[in-house]
Amino acid sequence: MKQYKIAILAGDGIGPEITAEAVKVLKVIEERNDVSFELLPASFGACAYFESGSAFPHQTKAICDEADAILKGPIGLNHEDSKRIPIDEQPERGALLPLRRRYNTYANFRPVSLPKSLAHFSPLKPEVIGEGIDLIIVRELVGGLYFGEKEMGVNDAGLRYVRETLEYDEAQIYQIMQQAFKLADKRRKLLHNIHKSNVLKSSVLWNEVMEEVAKEYPDVQVVNMLVDAAATALCLKPTQFDVMVMENMFGDILSDQGGGILGSLGLMPSACIGPDKAYYEPSHGSAPDIAGKNIANPYSMIGSVAMMLENSFDMAAEAKNVWAAMQGVFADGYSTADLSKPGSGVTMISTVEFGDKVVEKLRQMPRV
Ligand code: NAD
Repeated sequence: MKQYKIAILAGDGIGPEITAEAVKVLKVIEERNDVSFELLPASFGACAYFESGSAFPHQTKAICDEADAILKGPIGLNHEDSKRIPIDEQPERGALLPLRRRYNTYANFRPVSLPKSLAHFSPLKPEVIGEGIDLIIVRELVGGLYFGEKEMGVNDAGLRYVRETLEYDEAQIYQIMQQAFKLADKRRKLLHNIHKSNVLKSSVLWNEVMEEVAKEYPDVQVVNMLVDAAATALCLKPTQFDVMVMENMFGDILSDQGGGILGSLGLMPSACIGPDKAYYEPSHGSAPDIAGKNIANPYSMIGSVAMMLENSFDMAAEAKNVWAAMQGVFADGYSTADLSKPGSGVTMISTVEFGDKVVEKLRQMPRV
């Protein structure tokens, strides 16, 4: 029997609620396969800061080091509550970026997927969705503005100032391009390179390296698109995209727009892959506005489990079953509140009920 250790970082806000549903699914996967998961819960984010004074405590680091993969819930507080935490310990700066840096999880895969049968969830018109949306954003995750030097102070003129630097070297760009081209080569052989080279010199280097890597993948067609135009194109004609590659901040913003065109950020799982370790998390935040109400959509977290099965545990067939189980719940006419609008014919169910229905569907599927 294969045995894996999974660090479980439930996080803040809706994090514990959607993590509980993902754990239920992991248990069913154990029942159905010759595999066992040792789950190692650890504190991470604002909750960790209030417990221990650190958003990413030593003990959590040790657990993540030991784990074969990490399942992470969203972290963070609402705007006002964030001020209760010193700037450098606030969840993204104090925990998320250090996690990414620690394991060099430079490749972030964010699927934006909505089959035609679920077009009614999207705010876009059915004719825009056509046969369905099925694209994947490949986001560079450990470079650029988010990881550059940061400085705040008062300048010689007595004015408060801030300086943040955007830095990439060619090796960083090369490695994310390799990931993007490989993926494009496996899919529709179409890669949209998203950049801003008309303004940013970082994008000039980005594009240079992209063109060098493109020579290794002659079958992949590259379409270059400015990031601002890409934002519009995602709304007007999302079906033109298959694989999109972009730097860190562009990917952060455009992937939230991805959630928007699907109908909810709750449909956005992700995988963050490094050379030796990967972690899996929803693309969205901790949704403090709906936390504790049992209404969050756990699809993003359960989808992150599916991505973990495929990428970390070589269980692609069972991962497909997890996706199918979730789609099956939607196909039966159920959804959480974020996607069930009045008059849409969709029956609203809670977070826990969604998880229960996914488990029920999964149990009915033939074993792989
Ligand atoms: P958010 O992504 O938490 O929420 C935006 C909107 O989407 C809200 O209306 C929320 O209710 C909804 N939403 C998000 N996930 C949902 C789900 N699974 N089901 C149903 N609805 C869902 O963004 P925000 O409110 O700007 O940020 C809240 C906190 O999360 C902040 O502290 C922010 O810094 C943090 N954050 C963390 C991560 C992360 O952990 N990787 C990512 C983004 C934001």
